[in-house]
Amino acid sequence: MGERLLQLRQVEKSFDGHRVLKRIDLDVAAGEVVVILGPSGCGKSTLLRCLNGLEPIQGGTLLFKGEDLNAGKVPWRVTRQKIGMVFQSYHLFPHMTVLDNILLGPLKVQKRSRREAAADAEKLLSRVGLLDKKNAYPRQLSGGQQQRIAIVRALCMRPEVMLFDEVTAALDPEMVKEVLEVMLDLAREGMTMLIVTHEMRFARAVADRIVFMDGGEICEIAPPDAFFNRPQSGRARQFLNRFF
Ligand code: ADP
Ligand code: MG
Repeated sequence: MGERLLQLRQVEKSFDGHRVLKRIDLDVAAGEVVVILGPSGCGKSTLLRCLNGLEPIQGGTLLFKGEDLNAGKVPWRVTRQKIGMVFQSYHLFPHMTVLDNILLGPLKVQKRSRREAAADAEKLLSRVGLLDKKNAYPRQLSGGQQQRIAIVRALCMRPEVMLFDEVTAALDPEMVKEVLEVMLDLAREGMTMLIVTHEMRFARAVADRIVFMDGGEICEIAPPDAFFNRPQSGRARQFLNRFF
């Protein structure tokens, strides 16, 4: 495991005075896969959104490679190229081909040459088994294929960290596996990832550490075997009982 890429210190987030994240402390090392588990409404999405600058925080600090992300030195537009995020809904542009969807960020935001970025995109497309779809339109693809394209679109910006927020939650069951496989493959390659999921078998297989949240707090941080075999808190046991 490498250097610390992300450091969260006493992070506080509230909506209209309602505290949604409470004193969140978490370090993520380069190459580490952290899976965030917890009941609906406990603050998992908000935590990822704060790390991507989609929500401002009200207290504490978020450090990326030692730099305070909210210091205003680096615009979030730039930081987001380093911290990629994939959501439950994939939001591909319907009027653009797969390749053009993927190249939008690399060409418009990163000002890379079409030739170089397209070579990158094609490499990534073949990794997820969708190179033959590069000229297709999103509506011609299944949900699982569209979500794999959304992952490629994020990866094509060459991020150093990837955030995944329930990326299989909206998919038909038979398409879940093909998307989880892509994430497992990324983990094996050493990508640093924060993953929110309700796929417990996947969580156990992919995670270096599990972070269990409830009520806006981190209740437990443990390696997956320890967490699933011997959850320490009553809240974690109660949560796991719903799955096993
Ligand atoms: P999770 O992803 O774990 O289900 P969320 O992070 O989405 O939880 O939400 C945590 C809490 O914050 C919930 O109580 C939710 O209602 C509230 N919340 C999330 N987003 C907003 C928002 N934009 N405005 C007000 N409240 C919000
Ligand atoms: Mg959520």
